[in-house]
Amino acid sequence: MFRDEKIEAMSRDEMTGMQGGLLARQVKWAYENNRFYREKFDRAHLSPGDIKSAEDLHRISFTEKTDLRDNYPYALLSVPTWELARLHASSGTTGKPTPVFHTRKDLDNWGECMARNCSIAGVRKGDVSQISFKYTLFTGAFGHHLGAELIGSMVIPISSGQTEKQLMMMQDFKATVLHCTPSYAIVIAEKFAELGMKKDSLSLRLGIFGAEPMTEELRGEIESRLGITAIGDYGLTELGGPGVSIECPEKKGYHINEDFFLPEIIDPKTGSPLPTGEDGELVFTTLQKEAMPVLRYRTRDITCLEKGTCACGRTLIRHAPIKGRTDDMIIIGGVNFFPSQMESILLDFREVEPQYVINLVKKGRLDHICVDIERCQAFQPVDGGKELKSRMEARMKDIIGFRIEINIVEPMTFPRTEGKSKRIADKR
Ligand code: ADP
Ligand code: ZN
Repeated sequence: MFRDEKIEAMSRDEMTGMQGGLLARQVKWAYENNRFYREKFDRAHLSPGDIKSAEDLHRISFTEKTDLRDNYPYALLSVPTWELARLHASSGTTGKPTPVFHTRKDLDNWGECMARNCSIAGVRKGDVSQISFKYTLFTGAFGHHLGAELIGSMVIPISSGQTEKQLMMMQDFKATVLHCTPSYAIVIAEKFAELGMKKDSLSLRLGIFGAEPMTEELRGEIESRLGITAIGDYGLTELGGPGVSIECPEKKGYHINEDFFLPEIIDPKTGSPLPTGEDGELVFTTLQKEAMPVLRYRTRDITCLEKGTCACGRTLIRHAPIKGRTDDMIIIGGVNFFPSQMESILLDFREVEPQYVINLVKKGRLDHICVDIERCQAFQPVDGGKELKSRMEARMKDIIGFRIEINIVEPMTFPRTEGKSKRIADKR
């Protein structure tokens, strides 16, 4: 169902025209209200009036995560602090967290983006949304909360954790939509099985999962274990949080809210724009931010764009599922690949759980990959897992092209996560 058909099914020409107007306004706003952007433009002898459409974007240099860190805490603000309504921050695994700010209007726009996303995913008035993202500085829970509420889905702001209680609430208050990370959805599914609950004891029909990649294989696991449809949702703190893009029920890519975020794909090595359809790094320019516009923000996420009209009737441009982040890319023996590609191969085996760690180790002078993966409770090998190990190793070699060691470990070896999983352990 469309929430805003005019935008969601707008012709490409109309969308391009509208984006041009919004872009010119956003650039002017950033230039006039923010020293960082003003100096960037002045250094490049560029005036805001030079940027009239997406075609002109390449003239602006990229904004990177380090720019946000270097300008901590307030220097990327484009409004006085008394205009601010909310602070959020990214997890900040290294160093200080990266703060982002919202004015009242930004919160309204964020709510609208998330309401549209929820609606594209299939949330309706009368639904019950269990928000099992963690309520912290992190944007996930608040974004989903805003969107679901605006649609008229009753929100249960339970946050993540206390999984048994989650299931009790889900059952008693007949939650129909689950919002969390794919990793946490698996944890919920495990607890559900452990408690011997039946699928028909829950009213869940839909899950909106974001903040980390969800491969098709992981989606399949979640869907079959919980008996729901699983939809992927994408965003990042620097752009305000979730609400940037979402899959529709066709599951053929993530529709981008193009009236708020202008996407580009660039070659991560050279920074040059790549033609539509080619894989590269996703770069976004915000179009309607007040507190903290970002121009040409490098997300470090790798994907490609697809411009055609979707079977759902939407013309909003789509990006393919995120393959991974440039910083997570594994380069071994001259071959590049992402953990998500490996996950697809691993989860094709019914004998294992979607619980694994990819260890990067040194053997002599050479890099070596060794994956530890949990066996399923139901799979009780008599040979200590040897036969499965060699089948999995052969498949890996076939697809990825070099030897990857697989170790089958006992169920529940790895700690479960309530947020994003950390899949790589770099021990080199
Ligand atoms: P960080 O994890 O860098 O601290 P965020 O919490 O803002 O910061 O996370 C944003 C990042 O999470 C994105 O840039 C992307 O790498 C990842 N992400 C979010 N949603 C998805 C998704 N649906 N698929 C894959 N990756 C995602
Ligand atoms: Zn669609």
